[in-house]
Amino acid sequence: MKRELVCVACPLGCGITVELSDSGEVLSVTGNTCKRGEAYAHSECTNPTRSLTSTVKVTGSTLPVVPVKSAGPIPKGKLIDCAVALRDVTVKAPVKIGDVVVKDILGTGVDIVATNIAEVK
Ligand code: SF4
Repeated sequence: MKRELVCVACPLGCGITVELSDSGEVLSVTGNTCKRGEAYAHSECTNPTRSLTSTVKVTGSTLPVVPVKSAGPIPKGKLIDCAVALRDVTVKAPVKIGDVVVKDILGTGVDIVATNIAEVK
């Protein structure tokens, strides 16, 4: 089976063709112009991940929410559950960039961190 991908590891966006066995094993990767593309293709076909960006509620601040992101890639299959879990998270001002808002979200091993500040009201 063949899978056509667009590499998102850099802005060039190379078209990549991945040949997979019936069991989903990567047999070959073509079309990539560097090793990062090959690594992306392997990851996308065997354990796809995505970064998560969202907001969480903040109390005691002039802002109602603070933007957050995952500190690393999250398995694609857990992305929606993680986004839903963030709906129930409220942090207290002050918040600094890089503060861990949720440690090891849903057991993924990935922390959710603030990407902006929330000053005290
Ligand atoms: S294969 Fe390499 S050059 Fe092409 S988009 Fe991916 S990272 Fe960029």
